[in-house]
Amino acid sequence: MNKSSRKAIIAGNWKMNKTRPEAKELLEAIKPLVANADGKVEVIACVPFTNLETAINATAGSNVKIGAENVHFEKSGAFTGEISADMLVELGVEYVVIGHSERRQYFGETDETVNKRTKAALAAGLKPIVCVGELLWERECNITEEVIARQIKLDLFDVSAADAKKTVIAYEPVWAIGTGKTATADQAEEVCAFIRSTLAKIYDNATAEAITIQYGGSMNAKNCAELLAKTNVDGGLIGGASLKAADFNTIVQAAVQG
Ligand code: PEP
Repeated sequence: MNKSSRKAIIAGNWKMNKTRPEAKELLEAIKPLVANADGKVEVIACVPFTNLETAINATAGSNVKIGAENVHFEKSGAFTGEISADMLVELGVEYVVIGHSERRQYFGETDETVNKRTKAALAAGLKPIVCVGELLWERECNITEEVIARQIKLDLFDVSAADAKKTVIAYEPVWAIGTGKTATADQAEEVCAFIRSTLAKIYDNATAEAITIQYGGSMNAKNCAELLAKTNVDGGLIGGASLKAADFNTIVQAAVQG
């Protein structure tokens, strides 16, 4: 299997941005721009919980899929403020971002909770986008591979090969998120290739080759083509640039080009 047989995925991560009318306006602008990617690149907008229903209605019948930005691991119960996987599925959500560095940094997310959320999402039929990435200090100490291997092993612990194939891995170096600092295309390729080799050790080559690995971290209209041309970079998880229809579309079109 090679890159062209893997699913290319460009996903926007809107974070805590956009009211419902603003979400509808942005999606209405994105839809016609990315329509030509249908069947070539999966286009996803991961939006705040409050925008999910609006986003699902606005994108009905289009090739834009909707994702959530987090999910709880329990099915239901006394977890004030949390949202379950079944609640997301019932709305029509298909994807969910899990373990974003902002959740790890500000909300106490650990590899153990990332693993629980990933398994809960898969059990409910959601496709998880599991985020991994090293801190700047960890890169400077030359332990990027150790950090990434540990995250992949823990985050996917007890996830079957069949479920791993439904899971997207987003490599997001923490020092590149929202900072304007992008990993070079070679740095991104090096770690994405390492992630694939780690997946091959956990599962097998065929499974590792089938899994979509995204790069995320200040990907934008200018740097996307070089990043997305790399063999092991199958797509992007896009923060800031996903809030502008034209920029997001430029990234989608770069992925269509491969
Ligand atoms: C992200 O939120 O996952 C992200 C990569 O953000 P940005 O593109 O703004 O760096």
